[in-house]
Amino acid sequence: MDSEMLKHMRPESLMMSYGYKPELSEGAVKCPIFQTSTFVFKSAEEGKAFFEIAYGHRAQNEGEELGLIYSRINNPDLEILENRLTLWDGAEDCAVFESGMSAITTVLLEFLQPGDLLLMSNPLYGGSDHFIKKILPKFGIQVAEFRVGQSREEIIAIVEKTGLAHKLALIYIETPANPTNDLIEIAGSKAIAQHFSTPDKQVYLAVDNTYMGPIWQHPLKHGADLVLYSATKYIGGHSDVIAGACLGSKALMKRVKGLRTFLGNMASPNTGWLLLRSLETLKPRMDVQALNANKVAAFLNTHPKVEKVYFIGNLTEANGEQYAIKQKQCLSNGGMISFDVKGGEKEAFQFLNALKLIKLAVSLGGTESLAEHPATMTHVDVDANLRKELGITEKMIRLSIGVEYYEDIIYDLQQALNSITG
Ligand SMILES: *Cc1c(COP(=O)(O)O)cnc(C)c1O
Repeated sequence: MDSEMLKHMRPESLMMSYGYKPELSEGAVKCPIFQTSTFVFKSAEEGKAFFEIAYGHRAQNEGEELGLIYSRINNPDLEILENRLTLWDGAEDCAVFESGMSAITTVLLEFLQPGDLLLMSNPLYGGSDHFIKKILPKFGIQVAEFRVGQSREEIIAIVEKTGLAHKLALIYIETPANPTNDLIEIAGSKAIAQHFSTPDKQVYLAVDNTYMGPIWQHPLKHGADLVLYSATKYIGGHSDVIAGACLGSKALMKRVKGLRTFLGNMASPNTGWLLLRSLETLKPRMDVQALNANKVAAFLNTHPKVEKVYFIGNLTEANGEQYAIKQKQCLSNGGMISFDVKGGEKEAFQFLNALKLIKLAVSLGGTESLAEHPATMTHVDVDANLRKELGITEKMIRLSIGVEYYEDIIYDLQQALNSITG
Protein backbone atom coordinates (compact mmCIF):
# COMPACT_ATOMS: atom_id res chain seq x y z
CA MET A 1 0.00 0.00 0.00
CA ASP A 2 1.43 3.42 -0.91
CA SER A 3 1.67 6.25 1.59
CA GLU A 4 -1.26 8.17 0.02
CA MET A 5 -3.52 5.18 0.56
CA LEU A 6 -2.18 4.60 4.07
CA LYS A 7 -3.01 8.19 5.00
CA HIS A 8 -6.58 7.63 3.82
CA MET A 9 -7.12 4.54 5.99
CA ARG A 10 -8.41 4.45 9.56
CA PRO A 11 -6.29 2.46 12.04
CA GLU A 12 -8.92 -0.29 12.41
CA SER A 13 -8.55 -1.04 8.70
CA LEU A 14 -4.79 -1.52 9.05
CA MET A 15 -4.64 -3.70 12.19
CA MET A 16 -4.60 -6.93 10.16
CA SER A 17 -1.77 -6.01 7.79
CA TYR A 18 0.23 -2.87 8.63
CA GLY A 19 3.99 -3.39 8.84
CA TYR A 20 3.93 -7.11 7.98
CA LYS A 21 5.40 -8.42 4.73
CA PRO A 22 4.09 -11.95 3.92
CA GLU A 23 6.92 -12.51 1.40
CA LEU A 24 9.42 -12.50 4.29
CA SER A 25 7.49 -15.33 6.03
CA GLU A 26 6.78 -17.95 3.35
CA GLY A 27 3.61 -16.07 2.34
CA ALA A 28 1.90 -16.68 5.69
CA VAL A 29 -1.11 -14.35 5.88
CA LYS A 30 -0.53 -13.90 9.61
CA CYS A 31 2.67 -12.75 11.25
CA PRO A 32 4.26 -15.87 12.80
CA ILE A 33 5.68 -15.92 16.34
CA PHE A 34 9.39 -15.24 15.88
CA GLN A 35 10.31 -17.40 18.85
CA THR A 36 14.02 -16.81 18.54
CA SER A 37 16.60 -15.18 20.79
CA THR A 38 19.02 -14.13 18.06
CA PHE A 39 19.20 -13.44 14.29
CA VAL A 40 21.74 -14.62 11.69
CA PHE A 41 23.72 -11.87 9.93
CA LYS A 42 24.34 -12.28 6.19
CA SER A 43 27.94 -11.14 6.64
CA ALA A 44 30.29 -9.77 9.29
CA GLU A 45 30.00 -6.35 7.63
CA GLU A 46 26.21 -6.44 8.04
CA GLY A 47 26.54 -7.38 11.73
CA LYS A 48 28.96 -4.49 12.24
CA ALA A 49 26.56 -2.03 10.53
CA PHE A 50 23.57 -3.22 12.63
CA PHE A 51 25.51 -2.71 15.87
CA GLU A 52 26.72 0.75 14.83
CA ILE A 53 23.08 1.81 14.42
CA ALA A 54 21.77 -0.03 17.50
CA TYR A 55 24.32 1.62 19.80
CA GLY A 56 24.10 5.02 18.10
CA HIS A 57 27.79 5.03 17.08
CA ARG A 58 26.87 6.62 13.74
CA ALA A 59 23.76 8.17 12.15
CA GLN A 60 21.55 6.02 9.92
CA ASN A 61 22.19 6.43 6.19
CA GLU A 62 19.28 7.44 3.96
CA GLY A 63 16.77 4.52 3.92
CA GLU A 64 18.90 2.39 6.23
CA GLU A 65 16.88 0.50 8.86
CA LEU A 66 18.01 -1.12 12.07
CA GLY A 67 18.50 -4.79 11.20
CA LEU A 68 17.43 -7.63 13.46
CA ILE A 69 20.12 -8.44 16.04
CA TYR A 70 18.90 -10.03 19.25
CA SER A 71 15.38 -10.25 20.74
CA ARG A 72 16.21 -8.03 23.73
CA ILE A 73 16.95 -5.24 21.22
CA ASN A 74 14.35 -5.98 18.53
CA ASN A 75 12.11 -8.75 17.21
CA PRO A 76 9.61 -8.71 14.29
CA ASP A 77 6.58 -9.39 16.51
CA LEU A 78 7.45 -6.39 18.69
CA GLU A 79 8.36 -4.07 15.83
CA ILE A 80 5.15 -4.76 13.91
CA LEU A 81 3.11 -4.39 17.10
CA GLU A 82 4.85 -1.10 17.91
CA ASN A 83 4.23 0.24 14.41
CA ARG A 84 0.54 -0.67 14.62
CA LEU A 85 0.14 0.92 18.05
CA THR A 86 1.52 4.27 16.78
CA LEU A 87 -1.42 4.55 14.36
CA TRP A 88 -4.03 4.98 17.10
CA ASP A 89 -2.26 7.68 19.08
CA GLY A 90 -0.65 9.42 16.12
CA ALA A 91 2.78 8.78 17.66
CA GLU A 92 6.13 8.71 15.89
CA ASP A 93 7.32 5.65 17.77
CA CYS A 94 6.35 3.09 20.40
CA ALA A 95 8.05 0.63 22.76
CA VAL A 96 6.29 -2.41 24.19
CA PHE A 97 7.11 -3.93 27.56
CA GLU A 98 6.42 -7.10 29.48
CA SER A 99 4.03 -5.19 31.80
CA GLY A 100 2.41 -1.78 32.25
CA MET A 101 4.56 -1.29 35.35
CA SER A 102 7.76 -1.93 33.40
CA ALA A 103 6.73 0.73 30.82
CA ILE A 104 5.95 3.21 33.61
CA THR A 105 9.06 2.56 35.72
CA THR A 106 11.34 2.69 32.68
CA VAL A 107 9.99 6.15 31.77
CA LEU A 108 10.36 7.39 35.37
CA LEU A 109 13.95 6.13 35.57
CA GLU A 110 14.89 7.55 32.17
CA PHE A 111 13.51 11.06 32.70
CA LEU A 112 14.41 11.60 36.38
CA GLN A 113 17.80 12.00 38.03
CA PRO A 114 18.90 12.26 41.68
CA GLY A 115 17.86 15.68 43.00
CA ASP A 116 14.96 16.03 40.55
CA LEU A 117 11.35 16.75 41.44
CA LEU A 118 8.39 14.80 40.02
CA LEU A 119 4.87 16.28 40.04
CA MET A 120 2.04 13.71 40.08
CA SER A 121 -1.76 13.79 40.02
CA ASN A 122 -3.87 11.99 42.61
CA PRO A 123 -5.02 9.28 42.77
CA LEU A 124 -2.63 7.19 40.66
CA TYR A 125 -2.71 3.47 39.95
CA GLY A 126 -1.48 1.76 43.14
CA GLY A 127 1.67 0.32 41.55
CA SER A 128 2.71 3.70 40.12
CA ASP A 129 1.96 5.41 43.45
CA HIS A 130 4.11 2.84 45.28
CA PHE A 131 7.05 3.15 42.88
CA ILE A 132 6.99 6.96 42.99
CA LYS A 133 6.66 7.29 46.78
CA LYS A 134 8.57 4.24 48.06
CA ILE A 135 11.22 3.45 45.42
CA LEU A 136 12.13 6.77 43.73
CA PRO A 137 13.16 8.44 47.05
CA LYS A 138 15.92 5.80 47.30
CA PHE A 139 17.39 7.43 44.18
CA GLY A 140 17.10 10.94 45.67
CA ILE A 141 14.00 11.89 43.66
CA GLN A 142 11.35 14.02 45.43
CA VAL A 143 7.63 14.12 44.68
CA ALA A 144 4.97 16.85 44.80
CA GLU A 145 1.28 15.96 44.43
CA PHE A 146 -1.92 17.65 43.27
CA ARG A 147 -5.58 16.61 43.23
CA VAL A 148 -8.33 16.69 40.69
CA GLY A 149 -10.11 20.03 40.77
CA GLN A 150 -7.08 22.14 41.78
CA SER A 151 -6.49 25.16 39.55
CA ARG A 152 -3.36 25.77 37.51
CA GLU A 153 -2.30 28.52 39.93
CA GLU A 154 -2.77 26.22 42.92
CA ILE A 155 -0.68 23.48 41.29
CA ILE A 156 2.11 25.92 40.39
CA ALA A 157 2.09 27.09 44.02
CA ILE A 158 2.43 23.47 45.24
CA VAL A 159 5.55 23.05 43.07
CA GLU A 160 7.04 26.36 44.19
CA LYS A 161 6.44 25.57 47.87
CA THR A 162 8.81 22.57 47.60
CA GLY A 163 11.72 24.94 46.91
CA LEU A 164 12.66 22.56 44.07
CA ALA A 165 10.74 24.19 41.20
CA HIS A 166 13.99 24.56 39.23
CA LYS A 167 14.49 20.77 39.60
CA LEU A 168 11.04 19.81 38.27
CA ALA A 169 11.73 17.32 35.46
CA LEU A 170 8.52 15.39 34.85
CA ILE A 171 4.76 15.71 35.35
CA TYR A 172 2.95 12.38 35.60
CA ILE A 173 -0.86 12.20 35.40
CA GLU A 174 -3.66 9.70 35.08
CA THR A 175 -7.02 10.78 33.65
CA PRO A 176 -9.79 9.73 34.17
CA ALA A 177 -8.73 8.94 37.73
CA ASN A 178 -9.29 5.40 38.92
CA PRO A 179 -11.86 4.64 40.40
CA THR A 180 -13.70 7.98 40.64
CA ASN A 181 -13.58 8.93 36.93
CA ASP A 182 -12.53 12.49 37.84
CA LEU A 183 -10.85 14.28 34.93
CA ILE A 184 -7.60 16.24 34.67
CA GLU A 185 -6.99 18.56 31.74
CA ILE A 186 -4.06 17.29 29.67
CA ALA A 187 -3.42 20.63 27.88
CA GLY A 188 -3.52 22.40 31.27
CA SER A 189 -0.90 19.99 32.63
CA LYS A 190 1.24 20.71 29.58
CA ALA A 191 0.94 24.44 30.30
CA ILE A 192 2.29 23.78 33.82
CA ALA A 193 5.19 21.80 32.31
CA GLN A 194 5.94 24.73 29.99
CA HIS A 195 5.70 27.19 32.87
CA PHE A 196 8.61 25.38 34.58
CA SER A 197 10.62 24.69 31.40
CA THR A 198 13.71 26.76 30.62
CA PRO A 199 15.75 27.04 27.41
CA ASP A 200 18.12 24.34 28.67
CA LYS A 201 15.66 22.14 30.56
CA GLN A 202 12.34 20.91 29.20
CA VAL A 203 9.81 19.55 31.69
CA TYR A 204 8.04 16.57 30.11
CA LEU A 205 4.42 15.46 30.57
CA ALA A 206 3.65 11.73 30.76
CA VAL A 207 0.03 10.48 30.76
CA ASP A 208 -1.10 7.01 31.82
CA ASN A 209 -3.93 6.49 29.32
CA THR A 210 -4.83 2.93 30.37
CA TYR A 211 -8.35 3.83 31.49
CA MET A 212 -9.39 5.19 28.07
CA GLY A 213 -7.21 2.96 25.92
CA PRO A 214 -5.91 4.08 22.50
CA ILE A 215 -9.44 4.59 21.11
CA TRP A 216 -11.15 6.98 23.53
CA GLN A 217 -8.45 9.56 24.32
CA HIS A 218 -5.28 10.69 22.52
CA PRO A 219 -3.06 12.54 25.03
CA LEU A 220 -0.28 13.31 22.51
CA LYS A 221 -2.77 15.45 20.57
CA HIS A 222 -3.35 17.53 23.71
CA GLY A 223 0.32 18.20 24.38
CA ALA A 224 1.52 15.12 26.29
CA ASP A 225 5.12 14.12 25.52
CA LEU A 226 4.69 10.47 26.45
CA VAL A 227 1.64 8.23 26.68
CA LEU A 228 1.70 5.04 28.72
CA TYR A 229 -0.49 1.95 28.74
CA SER A 230 -0.97 -1.13 30.71
CA ALA A 231 -1.58 -3.22 27.57
CA THR A 232 -2.92 -5.85 29.97
CA LYS A 233 -6.17 -3.87 29.92
CA TYR A 234 -8.02 -2.66 26.76
CA ILE A 235 -5.15 -3.29 24.30
CA GLY A 236 -4.74 -6.96 25.30
CA GLY A 237 -8.44 -7.03 26.10
CA HIS A 238 -8.90 -10.73 26.89
CA SER A 239 -7.49 -10.92 30.44
CA ASP A 240 -4.87 -13.44 29.29
CA VAL A 241 -1.66 -11.40 28.98
CA ILE A 242 0.37 -8.88 31.00
CA ALA A 243 2.04 -6.18 28.87
CA GLY A 244 2.73 -2.45 28.59
CA ALA A 245 3.45 0.25 26.02
CA CYS A 246 4.92 3.74 25.80
CA LEU A 247 4.48 6.12 22.83
CA GLY A 248 5.93 9.49 21.87
CA SER A 249 8.33 11.31 19.56
CA LYS A 250 11.24 9.51 17.88
CA ALA A 251 13.73 11.42 20.04
CA LEU A 252 12.09 10.56 23.38
CA MET A 253 11.34 6.97 22.38
CA LYS A 254 15.00 6.48 21.48
CA ARG A 255 15.80 7.18 25.13
CA VAL A 256 12.99 4.89 26.38
CA LYS A 257 14.07 2.05 24.08
CA GLY A 258 17.69 2.56 25.07
CA LEU A 259 16.94 2.03 28.75
CA ARG A 260 14.62 -0.87 27.90
CA THR A 261 17.49 -2.63 26.13
CA PHE A 262 19.61 -2.45 29.27
CA LEU A 263 16.84 -3.19 31.79
CA GLY A 264 15.83 -6.07 29.52
CA ASN A 265 12.11 -5.56 30.21
CA MET A 266 10.83 -5.70 26.62
CA ALA A 267 7.84 -7.92 25.79
CA SER A 268 8.52 -11.47 24.60
CA PRO A 269 7.81 -12.51 20.99
CA ASN A 270 4.85 -14.54 22.24
CA THR A 271 3.38 -11.55 24.11
CA GLY A 272 3.92 -9.44 20.99
CA TRP A 273 2.05 -11.97 18.89
CA LEU A 274 -0.87 -12.15 21.35
CA LEU A 275 -1.18 -8.37 21.27
CA LEU A 276 -1.09 -8.30 17.44
CA ARG A 277 -4.07 -10.61 17.57
CA SER A 278 -5.80 -8.42 20.16
CA LEU A 279 -5.31 -5.26 18.09
CA GLU A 280 -7.35 -6.67 15.21
CA THR A 281 -10.51 -6.40 17.34
CA LEU A 282 -9.55 -3.40 19.50
CA LYS A 283 -12.01 -1.00 17.85
CA PRO A 284 -15.08 -3.29 17.71
CA ARG A 285 -14.43 -4.53 21.27
CA MET A 286 -14.15 -1.05 22.70
CA ASP A 287 -17.15 0.19 20.70
CA VAL A 288 -19.32 -2.52 22.27
CA GLN A 289 -17.87 -1.88 25.74
CA ALA A 290 -18.70 1.84 25.47
CA LEU A 291 -22.21 1.13 24.21
CA ASN A 292 -22.79 -1.36 27.05
CA ALA A 293 -21.41 1.07 29.64
CA ASN A 294 -23.90 3.76 28.58
CA LYS A 295 -26.78 1.28 28.99
CA VAL A 296 -25.51 0.01 32.37
CA ALA A 297 -25.01 3.56 33.71
CA ALA A 298 -28.56 4.49 32.66
CA PHE A 299 -29.82 1.48 34.63
CA LEU A 300 -27.74 2.26 37.74
CA ASN A 301 -28.69 5.97 37.67
CA THR A 302 -32.29 5.17 38.60
CA HIS A 303 -31.89 2.08 40.81
CA PRO A 304 -33.23 2.66 44.36
CA LYS A 305 -30.33 0.76 46.00
CA VAL A 306 -27.72 2.90 44.23
CA GLU A 307 -26.74 6.16 45.93
CA LYS A 308 -24.33 7.70 43.41
CA VAL A 309 -22.90 6.79 39.97
CA TYR A 310 -19.41 7.89 38.84
CA PHE A 311 -19.47 7.84 35.04
CA ILE A 312 -18.12 10.34 32.53
CA GLY A 313 -21.34 9.99 30.55
CA ASN A 314 -23.28 11.50 33.46
CA LEU A 315 -21.41 14.82 33.22
CA THR A 316 -23.51 17.78 32.03
CA GLU A 317 -22.93 21.51 31.75
CA ALA A 318 -23.98 21.74 35.39
CA ASN A 319 -20.66 20.00 36.23
CA GLY A 320 -18.77 23.01 34.84
CA GLU A 321 -15.02 22.42 34.47
CA GLN A 322 -15.28 18.59 34.52
CA TYR A 323 -17.78 18.67 31.64
CA ALA A 324 -15.60 21.12 29.70
CA ILE A 325 -12.56 18.82 30.06
CA LYS A 326 -14.60 15.83 28.92
CA GLN A 327 -15.82 17.68 25.82
CA LYS A 328 -12.26 18.71 25.04
CA GLN A 329 -10.30 15.49 25.43
CA CYS A 330 -12.57 12.42 25.77
CA LEU A 331 -13.86 10.79 22.59
CA SER A 332 -16.22 8.47 24.49
CA ASN A 333 -17.78 7.94 27.92
CA GLY A 334 -15.48 4.92 28.29
CA GLY A 335 -16.19 1.51 29.73
CA MET A 336 -15.53 2.07 33.45
CA ILE A 337 -18.32 2.82 35.94
CA SER A 338 -18.10 3.17 39.70
CA PHE A 339 -21.09 3.50 42.00
CA ASP A 340 -21.98 3.73 45.69
CA VAL A 341 -24.56 1.32 47.04
CA LYS A 342 -26.80 2.58 49.83
CA GLY A 343 -25.14 1.36 53.03
CA GLY A 344 -21.50 0.41 53.55
CA GLU A 345 -19.06 -2.50 53.22
CA LYS A 346 -21.68 -5.07 54.26
CA GLU A 347 -24.09 -4.05 51.49
CA ALA A 348 -21.28 -3.71 48.93
CA PHE A 349 -20.02 -7.22 49.76
CA GLN A 350 -23.56 -8.69 49.60
CA PHE A 351 -23.83 -7.26 46.11
CA LEU A 352 -20.39 -8.52 44.97
CA ASN A 353 -20.97 -12.01 46.40
CA ALA A 354 -24.30 -12.29 44.58
CA LEU A 355 -22.94 -11.56 41.07
CA LYS A 356 -23.11 -14.52 38.70
CA LEU A 357 -22.23 -13.46 35.14
CA ILE A 358 -19.94 -10.60 36.22
CA LYS A 359 -16.73 -11.88 37.80
CA LEU A 360 -15.37 -10.58 41.11
CA ALA A 361 -11.80 -9.65 40.13
CA VAL A 362 -9.49 -6.65 39.81
CA SER A 363 -8.13 -5.51 36.42
CA LEU A 364 -10.20 -3.95 33.64
CA GLY A 365 -10.72 -3.57 29.92
CA GLY A 366 -11.23 -7.25 29.12
CA THR A 367 -14.03 -8.85 27.14
CA GLU A 368 -15.71 -10.08 30.35
CA SER A 369 -17.32 -7.68 32.83
CA LEU A 370 -15.53 -7.46 36.19
CA ALA A 371 -16.50 -5.97 39.56
CA GLU A 372 -14.36 -5.12 42.59
CA HIS A 373 -14.32 -3.14 45.86
CA PRO A 374 -11.66 -0.38 45.59
CA ALA A 375 -11.52 0.51 49.31
CA THR A 376 -10.42 -3.01 50.34
CA MET A 377 -8.82 -4.20 47.08
CA THR A 378 -7.17 -1.97 44.41
CA HIS A 379 -6.93 1.10 46.66
CA VAL A 380 -6.35 -0.52 50.07
CA ASP A 381 -2.79 0.87 50.10
CA VAL A 382 -3.93 4.49 49.64
CA ASP A 383 -3.69 6.51 52.88
CA ALA A 384 -7.08 6.19 54.67
CA ASN A 385 -7.63 9.96 54.97
CA LEU A 386 -6.75 10.58 51.33
CA ARG A 387 -9.07 7.72 50.32
CA LYS A 388 -11.93 9.39 52.18
CA GLU A 389 -11.15 12.78 50.65
CA LEU A 390 -11.11 11.27 47.16
CA GLY A 391 -14.51 9.64 47.78
CA ILE A 392 -13.25 6.05 47.72
CA THR A 393 -15.52 4.75 50.49
CA GLU A 394 -16.69 1.36 51.78
CA LYS A 395 -19.86 1.60 49.72
CA MET A 396 -18.10 2.00 46.37
CA ILE A 397 -18.08 -0.69 43.66
CA ARG A 398 -16.00 -0.45 40.47
CA LEU A 399 -17.24 -2.09 37.27
CA SER A 400 -15.30 -2.81 34.09
CA ILE A 401 -17.88 -3.37 31.38
CA GLY A 402 -17.26 -6.19 28.89
CA VAL A 403 -18.72 -7.22 25.54
CA GLU A 404 -21.60 -9.39 26.82
CA TYR A 405 -25.14 -8.54 25.70
CA TYR A 406 -25.96 -5.48 27.79
CA GLU A 407 -29.33 -6.74 28.96
CA ASP A 408 -27.59 -9.77 30.48
CA ILE A 409 -25.11 -7.52 32.34
CA ILE A 410 -28.04 -5.46 33.65
CA TYR A 411 -29.98 -8.62 34.59
CA ASP A 412 -27.02 -9.77 36.73
CA LEU A 413 -26.60 -6.32 38.34
CA GLN A 414 -30.33 -6.19 39.06
CA GLN A 415 -30.46 -9.57 40.78
CA ALA A 416 -27.31 -8.77 42.80
CA LEU A 417 -28.67 -5.36 43.89
CA ASN A 418 -31.96 -6.99 44.85
CA SER A 419 -30.09 -9.51 47.01
CA ILE A 420 -28.84 -6.67 49.29
CA THR A 421 -30.75 -7.08 52.56
CA GLY A 422 -28.95 -4.33 54.49
C1 LIG B 1 -3.12 -2.11 35.50
C2 LIG B 1 -2.62 -0.72 35.44
C3 LIG B 1 -1.25 -0.44 35.46
C4 LIG B 1 -0.19 -1.52 35.63
O1 LIG B 1 -0.13 -2.36 34.53
P1 LIG B 1 0.38 -3.90 34.59
O2 LIG B 1 0.17 -4.35 33.19
O3 LIG B 1 -0.49 -4.60 35.60
O4 LIG B 1 1.79 -3.88 35.01
C5 LIG B 1 -0.86 0.88 35.36
N1 LIG B 1 -1.77 1.88 35.24
C6 LIG B 1 -3.08 1.65 35.24
C7 LIG B 1 -4.03 2.79 35.13
C8 LIG B 1 -3.56 0.34 35.33
O5 LIG B 1 -4.88 0.11 35.34
